[in-house]
Amino acid sequence: MTVLPPIYKDGITAGRLDAETLSDNFCDVHPPLDPHEAHVAADRCYFCYDAPCIQACPTSIDIPLFIRQISTGTPEAAAKTIFDSNILGGMCARVCPTETLCEEACVRELAEQKPVEIGALQRYATDTMMTRDTHPYTRAAATGKAVAVVGAGPAGLAAAHRLALHGHAVTLFEARPKAGGLNEYGIAAYKTVDDFAQAELDWLLGIGGITVETGKALGEDLSLDSLSDDFDAVFLSIGLGGVNALGVNDDQALPAVDFIEDLRQSEDLTKLAVGRRVVVIGGGMTAVDAAVQSKLLGAEEVTIVYRREQAKMAASGHEQNHAAASGVRIITNAAPIGMTKGGVEFAYTVSTEDGLQTSEETFVLPADQVLTAIGQALKQEQIDGLDIVRGKIAINDQGRTSRGGVWAGGDCALGGDDLTVTAVAQGRDAAEDIHASMTQGA
Ligand SMILES: Cc1cc2nc3c(=O)[nH]c(=O)nc-3n(C[C@H](O)[C@H](O)[C@H](O)COP(=O)(O)OP(=O)(O)OC[C@H]3O[C@@H](n4cnc5c(N)ncnc54)[C@H](O)[C@@H]3O)c2cc1C
Ligand code: SF4
Repeated sequence: MTVLPPIYKDGITAGRLDAETLSDNFCDVHPPLDPHEAHVAADRCYFCYDAPCIQACPTSIDIPLFIRQISTGTPEAAAKTIFDSNILGGMCARVCPTETLCEEACVRELAEQKPVEIGALQRYATDTMMTRDTHPYTRAAATGKAVAVVGAGPAGLAAAHRLALHGHAVTLFEARPKAGGLNEYGIAAYKTVDDFAQAELDWLLGIGGITVETGKALGEDLSLDSLSDDFDAVFLSIGLGGVNALGVNDDQALPAVDFIEDLRQSEDLTKLAVGRRVVVIGGGMTAVDAAVQSKLLGAEEVTIVYRREQAKMAASGHEQNHAAASGVRIITNAAPIGMTKGGVEFAYTVSTEDGLQTSEETFVLPADQVLTAIGQALKQEQIDGLDIVRGKIAINDQGRTSRGGVWAGGDCALGGDDLTVTAVAQGRDAAEDIHASMTQGA
C-alpha cells in the first residue's frame, strides 16, 4: 500500500460507501453484447473495400472480415482474425479509445455520427473464443533459439506470444509480483472487471514455450550484458515506471498511477481511503481515470485541473464526457503554484507565442487529496549502451535499439502513442524482426 503524504492525514477516509454501492459503481462500464445484439450491430457494417477502420487500427485488424464472420454466425473465426493481428484483442476491445481510432474512421460515423460498434463486436468475438478450453495457435517446431523479454506488459506479452509461435523459447522477466503491466496495475477497474487481465494472461500463455519469471528487474537482478550473453536476442518492454514531478509541493501530492495501482490491487474497496475533496492535476487518460474512480469510491467533490485549454487535453472528448457524466468538474487554463493543508492554489494561464504564461489572477481549490497525472518517464536515466532520447529508448522502424541484439517497444520506446494497442503492435512487429534476424540473419 502506498505511503500517504502529509496532506492526506486528516482528510481521507476509507469506507465512504458500502460494499454493495462500490460493487455497483465498479461494474463493467460497457456490458458485453449478447448474440442478438452482436448480430444487429454487425449488420450495420458496409464491409467497405479499402476500409478506413483498418487503416485507423494500430494493429491493422481486418475489421470488415471479422464483422462478416460474426454476421455469418462464426464468432470463433472472427476472434481468430482479430488475434492474428492483435493477440491482446480482448483487452484492446475493452480499453482502446475506439472513438479516436477505428470508430472515428468508420464511414457510418462520418455519414450518421453513429459508427459501427467495432470495439463491442471485437469483445463479443474474443470473449466467445476465450471461454473455449483450447488455445487457438500451435507453436512451430522448436528452433533452438532463446529470447529474453523484459517487462510483461502488453508489448512484452505480444512479443513473447509471437516469438513462441515461431518456435523460439521465451523467458519473460518481470519486476513486479504479477505479469500484465498496466493491464493489471493501471487500466481503470471499470474497464477490465472480473480479473480479466490475469485471465487473458493465462490464456495467452496457453501457447506454451514462455517461462515467466516475476520479481526480476533489469538493473537490479539482471543486466543487459548478462542477458545478451545468455540469450540470442533481447526485447525490452519495461514501460514508463517513473512519474514527472510537478515542481510544486510534490511531497504533498500522490502520483495518480500509485493511487490507481492501489485500487486495482485492492481486494476490498471499502478499505481504500479517498478524500472528500479530490483535486487531480493533469489532462490525459490517467487524470480522467483517477478522477472518475475517486468519485466512484465516494469522494464528494472531484476536480481535474489542466494547465492548457480544453482542446489540448490528451483525454479524448469521449473520456472528458465520461468524467463530466460521473460528476467530475474540469477546470482548464490553470496551473498549480502552491499547496497548503487546506487546498491547492492555482494561477490562471494564457497561451502566448512564447509558450504558456501564468497570470496574476489566482484561486484556491479546497482539497484534502491531490493526485498528479502529468506524464510518466523511464525510471532509468541510462541503460547499458542504449541511446535514450527525450526520456525514452531510441529505436528504428523495426524496433532495433542502438545496441546490437537488443530491441525495444511499447511505452519505453520513442515514437509510440502510449496506448495498449500501440504497445501490442510494437511488440508484435519487433518479434517478427527478431525472428527474421535470428533465422535469416536479416
Ligand atoms: C492509469 C493509466 C490508464 C491507462 N488507460 C489506458 C486505456 O484505457 N486505454 C489504453 O489504450 N491505454 C491506457 N493506458 C496506457 C497503456 O496502459 C500503456 O500504453 C501500455 O500498458 C503500455 O504497455 P507496455 O507493455 O509498453 O508497458 P507497461 O504496461 O507499463 O508494462 C511494462 C512492464 O515492465 C515491467 N518493468 C518495468 N521496469 C522493469 C525492469 N527494470 N525489469 C523488469 N520489468 C520491468 C513493469 O512492471 C510492467 O509490468 C493507461 C495508462 C495508465 C498509466
Ligand atoms: S468503416 Fe465502418 S462500415 Fe466500413 S468496414 Fe469499417 S466498420 Fe464496416
